Order: sequence, then C-alpha cells, then structure tokens
Amino acid sequence: MRALTEKEIRDSLMNCSKGQAKRLNFAQDPAEVDWENTPFLGWGDPKSPLDSYLCAEIDGEAVGLVLRAAAKPSGAATAQMCQMCKSVHAGAGISFMAVPLPGEAGRKGNTAGTYMCQGAACLDYLMGRARLEKSLQMKETLTREEKIERAQENVEAFVRSIRDRG
Ligand SMILES: [Zn+2]
Repeated sequence: MRALTEKEIRDSLMNCSKGQAKRLNFAQDPAEVDWENTPFLGWGDPKSPLDSYLCAEIDGEAVGLVLRAAAKPSGAATAQMCQMCKSVHAGAGISFMAVPLPGEAGRKGNTAGTYMCQGAACLDYLMGRARLEKSLQMKETLTREEKIERAQENVEAFVRSIRDRG
C-alpha cells in the first residue's frame, strides 16, 4: 500500500474518538514499515492487549478500524478460523473482535464482529514471521502470494463494509 505517516494512520481511524486515535500505540514505527510489501496494516497495541488496529487503502484513501478482542473465557477454547487470512488457531491465537461502527451507530454502542488472528497479525503468519500450527490448517493449494492477496481482499471488503455502515 501507499506509505502512510503516523498522523495519517491515526487520522484514518473512523470508529473511535480522536482521543483514542491519539493515544494508541504502534507495534512498529510507521516510518520503518516496508510499505511496498505491506498490502494492509494490522497490529496489536503493545500496551493495551485487547486492542488491535487495521488500516487499508480503499479507493486510494487510508481507512482504519479499531478492533476490540473479547476477553477469553478461561479453559477450553476451540480452534477458530480467521475470517481475513483463513489461518486456523486454537486458544490465544485467535480472538473474537468487536468492531464499533462509525458515527451515530457506534456511539449508541453498535458493533460488528469477526474472528481474527490475535493482534490482527495475519501478515505475520502469511509471511512466515510467525508460526502456524500445521495440523489445524485447511488443505489448500494456494501459493503464499495468493493467500496474501486473499487476505488483502477480505480485509479491504471488511473495512469497506464497516465504513459503509457508518
Ligand atoms: Zn488472520
């Protein structure tokens, strides 16, 4: 995606207050992101473990979302598939994310939800920077590039759908 500055990323978040956008913490300095090989940005807040963020380029414009992981019930957690990258994780690897809707609907407390890699870390798994439990994964013949492309399409469609509900 197009290279974004820290300010552009904060300004892109459409479903949180300006204060929250200002306070959030980056996992990686945006100035050091390899933007050319980053189809979308996803990261977990290093100081606020339940909060994650997504930022995608929609029609040439950066659009960002705050995602809030549901706290896990203790004990048995079944494996779930990330709706963005289709990786399957058990336990802490996957979170049910509540995504506040933008605008008036969000101020009334309305959210959308999706299962997603914890910390919106899809690209870490797809690019091999984080390990997947092999036995849990779907049998697929897609290449790594195709999986990354699919995740990008899913993230963009999701971000777009939330934006359009605002
Ligand atoms: Zn994922």
